[in-house]
Amino acid sequence: MPFTTNNSKNVVILEQNSTFMHRCGLYIHVPFCKSRCIYCDFYSTTCGYEKRKAYIEAVCQEITLRKEYLDSSVLSSVYIGGGTPSVLMAEELKTLFATVAEHWQLSPDAEVTLEANPDDATPDYAKALAALPINRVSMGVQTFNDDMLRFLHRRHTAEQARLAVDNLLSAGIDNISIDLIYGIPNQTIDQWQSDLEQALALPVTHLSAYSLTYEEGTQLHHLREQGKVSEVDEELSLQMYSLLMEKAEVAGFRHYEISNFALPGYEARHNSGYWSGMHYLGLGPAAHSYNGTSRQWNSPDLQAYIHAGGDTLGARLFSREEITKRMQLEETLLTHLRTAAGLNLTAFACDFGQEKLDALLARAKPYINNGTLVIKNQTDPPLTPPMKGGEERSSFMGEWGGSLSMVNGQWLCLTREGLFVSDDIISSLFE
Ligand code: SF4
Repeated sequence: MPFTTNNSKNVVILEQNSTFMHRCGLYIHVPFCKSRCIYCDFYSTTCGYEKRKAYIEAVCQEITLRKEYLDSSVLSSVYIGGGTPSVLMAEELKTLFATVAEHWQLSPDAEVTLEANPDDATPDYAKALAALPINRVSMGVQTFNDDMLRFLHRRHTAEQARLAVDNLLSAGIDNISIDLIYGIPNQTIDQWQSDLEQALALPVTHLSAYSLTYEEGTQLHHLREQGKVSEVDEELSLQMYSLLMEKAEVAGFRHYEISNFALPGYEARHNSGYWSGMHYLGLGPAAHSYNGTSRQWNSPDLQAYIHAGGDTLGARLFSREEITKRMQLEETLLTHLRTAAGLNLTAFACDFGQEKLDALLARAKPYINNGTLVIKNQTDPPLTPPMKGGEERSSFMGEWGGSLSMVNGQWLCLTREGLFVSDDIISSLFE
């Protein structure tokens, strides 16, 4: 198999004419944070920086022990998430990449993402990242309002977020994603508009925006239970989501998944892989893996992980569940309908049978008739959600009869109106 070695990046990259077809991804969970944000329920610890060396050694060992999990020696994406991966020193990341390169090659267009906190992305650190195989950085900016950043216990300022983007660009990393949060207690629509305008004025390629959630066990949840904060009302939240779609579209971003927007060609490959059945190996405490037939996840326990030297299988520091046909069907609906492309009905019938497709279409019918779901009749999936009653809906004007002969090459998609109530619609499509 033809490949070249790129010494400067210390990875092996397949040449463009490779016949590689199967997509596989690697996820590495870095469970360290310098402080905890009040809304976060991801697994991470603020203690244990001194354990970083042992953690890196354990991950390298887990790579070696579990490399066979993936049935390909080529990775189309690597995602280093957390926690806060940018608390790792460049040398530590280099060790991880060197071990990855011992076992896998990166496809020529591999997306290699590192999650970073804005205050970590100094000019020197950005340069060090650019010297590694990293070609994409995802930053949790959340808001450009310093008061709200303090409320959320974020450790950066709005100015640091802007500087971080500059530093990454100057270092040569030009594929930058930022995360925003809306629906922060007391946040007004004008403040959210300002966040969006400031985010979209930056030279970033990708934007993820999430409504603030009150996860059980978080400080934010506790504050709400005590009556010290309250959620923004639903109408305002919908207004904020609507504004998000409007501003992103005007800025040239494609709305390719419910919470994700990208400039053309910059859709997140790794995360899109999760939605399209990509096999992936997750390393580190709390990391999840999927091989097409089962899902398994490491225990969220850094101490035990280090103690086992990364031998999660030997130490039984994992759980596993086989994916039943029913789970597969529900996950297919859940993940595909969240995307602008939607659900390919022909593929659905191939995977689950005509009877399941008939049942799905029967459950979808009321939503098609009220304009929150639509069946698109085209060869390629749409890039943005179709407008209710718009041109793209023209072949389905009036009551849709649900003729099964119509479904070949067709896609079931949420309309813009459907996006606002997507959770309800998708769950009601389950058996
Ligand atoms: S949001 Fe990110 S930085 Fe904040 S506690 Fe969670 S993982 Fe750590």
